[in-house]
This record gives sequence, structure tokens and C-alpha cells, in this order.
Amino acid sequence: MNLNNIMNDLEKKHPGEVEFLQAVREVLESIEEVVNENPQFDSAKVIERLVEPDRVIMFKVPWIDDNGDVQVNLGYRVQFNNALGPYKGGLRFHPSVNLSILKFLGFEQIFKNALTTLPMGGGKGGSDFNPKGKSDNEIMRFCQAFMLELWKVIGPETDVPAGDVGVGGKEIGYLYGMYKKLARENSGVLTGKGLGWGGSLIRPEATGFGGVYFTKEMLAMQNETFEGKTVAISGFGNVAWGVALKVTELGGKIITISGPDGYIYDEEGIAGEKIDYLLELRASNQDIVAPFADEFPSAKFIPGKRPWEVKCDIAMPCAIQNELNGDDAKLLVENGVLAVAEVSNMGCTPEAVTLFHEKKIPFGPGKAVNAGGVAVSGLEMTQNAMKLAWTREEVDAKLHHIMSSIHTACITHGTEDDGYINYVKGANIAGFLKVANAMMDQGVI
Ligand code: GLU
Repeated sequence: MNLNNIMNDLEKKHPGEVEFLQAVREVLESIEEVVNENPQFDSAKVIERLVEPDRVIMFKVPWIDDNGDVQVNLGYRVQFNNALGPYKGGLRFHPSVNLSILKFLGFEQIFKNALTTLPMGGGKGGSDFNPKGKSDNEIMRFCQAFMLELWKVIGPETDVPAGDVGVGGKEIGYLYGMYKKLARENSGVLTGKGLGWGGSLIRPEATGFGGVYFTKEMLAMQNETFEGKTVAISGFGNVAWGVALKVTELGGKIITISGPDGYIYDEEGIAGEKIDYLLELRASNQDIVAPFADEFPSAKFIPGKRPWEVKCDIAMPCAIQNELNGDDAKLLVENGVLAVAEVSNMGCTPEAVTLFHEKKIPFGPGKAVNAGGVAVSGLEMTQNAMKLAWTREEVDAKLHHIMSSIHTACITHGTEDDGYINYVKGANIAGFLKVANAMMDQGVI
């Protein structure tokens, strides 16, 4: 494989798609050796086929706000690769959403879903609609208008969307209601549904819980545990909430959360009622964490900054792509961080990841660390197909098992000569081999 030629071609075809090109480069760099050892991939042009989405669906979403004014947003679904199963991946509603971001997320999702060992291909979708500050009625009208287009291209055996940034249980409810009405079927096409109508126990917590199970294994490789450790996290949504719950249960102390307005530092730890308050903050549809400091006296609000300047044992970015850069990584390393686990998708910039690797700090990439969310989505699909619901314990045990198997796959493919585990390489190679072998078996399609 000639990495530079492939990247140059891709840049020509998709100029300016910075996030997409960043995600592809990271994967290709780490699988280069494996591809060169397997000439059959080269002759079947597996890489050239893998880096282009199967298709991109773009549509206009007109809707009417509470003032009676017409609003127009853009809607997208990127169906990236279905070698392993139906396209599967979340919907992101955020003003930053564009084709580059959804293509990077869809591309990452292929390998993440492969790592779960469940039969799911990779896809992603969303809109530049901003749910923050919108009324429930506005959110409902937008979701209905969005589904009016999306329903034509999804289905329980075709493409199964779910939530992501800006899309939680409420949005999934409105989207599902409209899908059911249009498609005249109740087959569970979206995951992250409510418990009373086809959802799975543990799905809301799954990304956070899974991330902590994975990090626990990373720590165990250094004979460490969460017990007594300080943990800095970013974000304050579903993902951060799940991480905070599980870290606290395992004896760790969450000392930060964050929003676009700044971060909260609480040296007494964010536990108990403070964790419940996170959900209230999120439900308020306001994109801010400042009110947290008004509510709890031990919490300090640091405006306009990111939590990575705080001394911590473990850092777990839980918000958005490229939220931890090279300078942040330097501060974490100087402050003696033991492990960094990306719970957000591509939360760290390439400069940050390179520094962690140079300094031999265990670093877990999003596609491994946050795979628990989509894994429990896969388990939700299984329960829907069986028309049965598993208990909390059953789902949690399966999630635990899946996260452990991903960790093992990273060790198998990512252990370097000096014993350092390069989790980026491990996750990329393990995910890639599964998808590439399936593509070889299925011919040029
Ligand atoms: N948006 C989540 C992710 O990035 C979950 C996707 C899903 O459950 O399909 O993996």
C-alpha cells in the first residue's frame, strides 16, 4: 500500500474535509504493515474501497419554530460500510455538523463496530440543528421533519441509527414515533429506545460504563486500579454521567466536568447527588456547566478553559473530537497522568496521541474505549429480534465481556517490542482485519 498516494488521492477528492482525512490517516498509518504483509488486500483494492463511503444521503429539513418562523437545516446519513452487518451508528445534532465530521465518525464506526464482535456495519448521520435552547415542541417538530426524509433509507436489516451528541432518549422517542408511522412497522429500527417500547437496560449508561471497564483493564496492566485515583473528565452529558457513576462505584474520584463555557473543578469529588444534577443540567437543554458551581459550594467554575490543566491520575475526554490537543497532553504528562482513555470519538489530536506514545503513557482510542455504547445497541437489536428483554445483570455481563475482548484484541495486535501496548495500533488492526477479510469474501461490490 502506498499511503501517501492514497492520502493524496483522497485529499483531492474531498478537499478541506479535515476531520475525515485525519481519521483515515490515523487508521492507515497503523495498519500499513499488516496491509503490506497481505498482498491480497492490495490487489483487491480493499483500502481504496474502504476509505469511500458506500453512499451519502443529504437532505433539507424545513421545520417551523415556536414563533411560527420557518427554519431550514441540513440532514445527512453516511452509509459507510456494511461488510459485517447493517449500517449502524448514531445521529449527531450539533451546529458544527458537516460532511467531514460525519464521514470521520462513520469511518471510525466501521472499526469500532467490528471490535464489538457483533454483526454491525458502520454509518453515521445527523444535522446542523442545535437542540440547545429549543423547546420540547421544537425538538419534536425538527425530529419529525428529519425522519420524513431519513425513513426511506433505514430499516432494521438495512441501517439502524441511534443517538450521539445532541441526540438522547427524548430525540430517539420523537424520531422513532415518526418512523413507525411512516414505515408502518414496529421493528425497533432505532436503538437507545425507551425501556417501555423496545429499549435495552444499561443502554443509557453503556458508553460510560464500557469506557470505565476498558480503562480498568488498561490500569490492571500496570497493576493499578481506580481505587483512590483522581479522574478528570470533560462533558456533562450521558457519556460523562455513565463514567462518573462507574468510576465512583470503583472507588475513584471524579474531579472535573466541562461544557463549552468552561470547566468545573471539585476537589471533593463529583459523586452522589452531584451526579444526578448532571442529568438535570443536560435535561435543561442549556449547553453550560456554570450553574453546577452555584449549586455545590466545593465546585469551582473555571470559565473558558479545559479540564486537562488539572493534576489528575486518569484523564477521560467525554465530549467531542479534538478536545484534547498537544499542549493539553503536555500538561497531563507533566502532572504524572497514569492513563488517558478517549471516551469521545477522536477526542485527542494527532499531536496529543503522538506525545502519549512517545512518553509511553497508556492511551486508549475512542473506537475501543467507547465501543460499549454501540455494543449495547447491538444487544438491543438482538433483544428486539427475539422479542425478549434481558435483565440489567445479563446486559451488563455481556457489555463487560465485550469490553474485555476488545482489550485483549488490542494487546494481541498492539503490543510493541518493549512491551508497551499501542492501543491505537491494536484496535485499528483488529477492526481492519475483520472488515477486510469480510470484504475479500464478499467480492468487489
Ligand atoms: N453514537 C454512539 C457511537 O459513537 C453510539 C452509536 C450506536 O449506538 O449506534 O458509537
